[in-house]
Amino acid sequence: MIKRNFEEMGFTPGILKAISELGFEMPMPVQENVIPLMLGDECDIIALAQTGTGKTAAFGLPLVQATDTESNNVQSLILCPTRELCMQITGDLADYSKYMGKLNILAVYGGASIDNQIRALKKGVHIIVATPGRLIDLIGRGAAKLNHVSSVILDEADEMLNMGFLDSINEILEEIPAGRRTLLFSATMSNEIASIARKYMTDPVEITIGTKNATAENVSHNYYLVHSKDKYKALKRLADSEPDIYGIIFCRTRRETQEVASMLIDDGYNADALHGDLSQAQRDTVMQKFRVRNLQLLVATDVAARGLDVDDLTHIINFSLPEDLEVYTHRSGRTGRAGKKGISVSIISPRDKITIHQIERKIKKPFKMMQIPSGSEICSRQLLHWVKKLEMVETEHQEIDRFIPEIEEKLAGLDKEELLRRVVSLQFDKFLDDYRYGEELHSPAAESEEGFRGKNKKGSGRKFEGDYKRLFINLGKTDGFFPEQLIELINSNTKGKKIPIGKIDLMKTFSFFEVEAGYAEEVIDALSKARFNDRRVAVEVAQEKTESRGEGRSHEKGKRKEKWSDRRTDKRSDKKYGKRKDRKSRVVTYPGLKHRH
Ligand code: AMP
Repeated sequence: MIKRNFEEMGFTPGILKAISELGFEMPMPVQENVIPLMLGDECDIIALAQTGTGKTAAFGLPLVQATDTESNNVQSLILCPTRELCMQITGDLADYSKYMGKLNILAVYGGASIDNQIRALKKGVHIIVATPGRLIDLIGRGAAKLNHVSSVILDEADEMLNMGFLDSINEILEEIPAGRRTLLFSATMSNEIASIARKYMTDPVEITIGTKNATAENVSHNYYLVHSKDKYKALKRLADSEPDIYGIIFCRTRRETQEVASMLIDDGYNADALHGDLSQAQRDTVMQKFRVRNLQLLVATDVAARGLDVDDLTHIINFSLPEDLEVYTHRSGRTGRAGKKGISVSIISPRDKITIHQIERKIKKPFKMMQIPSGSEICSRQLLHWVKKLEMVETEHQEIDRFIPEIEEKLAGLDKEELLRRVVSLQFDKFLDDYRYGEELHSPAAESEEGFRGKNKKGSGRKFEGDYKRLFINLGKTDGFFPEQLIELINSNTKGKKIPIGKIDLMKTFSFFEVEAGYAEEVIDALSKARFNDRRVAVEVAQEKTESRGEGRSHEKGKRKEKWSDRRTDKRSDKKYGKRKDRKSRVVTYPGLKHRH
């Protein structure tokens, strides 16, 4: 393909001006491929490209250029999985259309005031950027009219499917006239994606773009080998030995993420958690704190960290290795950006060694086994770091001067050495206590595993394993009720608590969700007083039967027999926590609750 710059692609002067103000000099590969197709032919496009490859501009610039601002109709629809992405795309489109007169773009997502969104739609919107759940709600209320839409973008389609939006996407696409153009962006090509493409796209052109997150040359890959029970201690040592660390600690499950973060916070680290059990507002706050470096360590699940694009991370820490090796590449590609050095560290137990070898083959780079820093090494690194800070500190505050005589008088009896000793002691008691007499962590030979149960964990009485209780709720997808709404409902009615939420199963008119067993009663009580879109909420414990598979009694008058055991896929937690082995034999029946009105 002949390389063309933005001018040669045929953008209007207004858009070219915006592009230049954004500092885009040359099109990125996805843009080179997609923009000419969008500005030229009417063909449908499937682009396999990840976040970070420049895909928003690839579809956004041509969409903006093609918009007729004289018309009051919605002309383009962009569907995406999360509120963060929705806001990010809306902001990007606003940048692209800065010099295009009155082009109205509306972000439509759950958790924000629906009345404001309805008002904005009434005034006239040209491009809607939406998460599927809220858009269905607005279509149902007659507020979003899609009968003039000529371009549809499905962004991060694989993620939307992962989040259970397939039915909603189908429902929305049915609303849009057949002559439209459809673009689908996805990081992966799965069977479900292919089936959406077959159903809603016409002879799509397929484009595959290399990953931005491909492992950079300047990322080193290290691992610490420890007993499973020592993983948290190793994490602490790693954090302690890197006083300037600014990194993301990846865990596999929401539960593990919250537990690791809570332990770090309890142990005095500048850390917080980011996972799907937090409300949108909580996630926004944590991400913002991390972006502005008010947090040094962010403990996150892969899915929750998706909306976060931070360029200058010093470390990526794999507290648990991902199941999918591709995910390792995404994780480690978050460090070592913009020419900086990056470190991807994995804290592994002997059984993970095989995965390390698989990753080595995939990324074609060797991992280096690192020695866990000794206590004295950590103390000396911390001290040197502190001394360096002391050397650099600026003492220009006039206010300090007036306290000096009094301080001098009070400390007159101490010579310089004693004074230093005391200052250091004040500063380092925590480390000295932790490490002076502390045991050292040793790498095990590949030996039997105890399992990571946190039983040697200092202080807190938290457990790593927890029983979850499955609850029934009288709200489902047709009520505009999706995981985001459920989490928001629980969080807003149990203020100040972070109730651990397990698996969520959404049906059309009702749903099931799990909460940690100790919180079940509280959640039932709190939600039973709650309302959702003016409906009374009803929650009950989902009743289980221990025998006779297939006897599920359905709320939908026999239309569907729900079998918990059939739909459980939580094999990871079964394996890891060794708790749920009995699930296969259990069948859930719905409580005999009269739901709806
Ligand atoms: P995206 O994949 O759309 O999230 O874009 C990733 C980042 O690349 C964003 O920060 C964009 O602003 C930036 N970007 C997009 N196109 C270009 C370009 N042609 N040149 C430089 N940066 C770009």
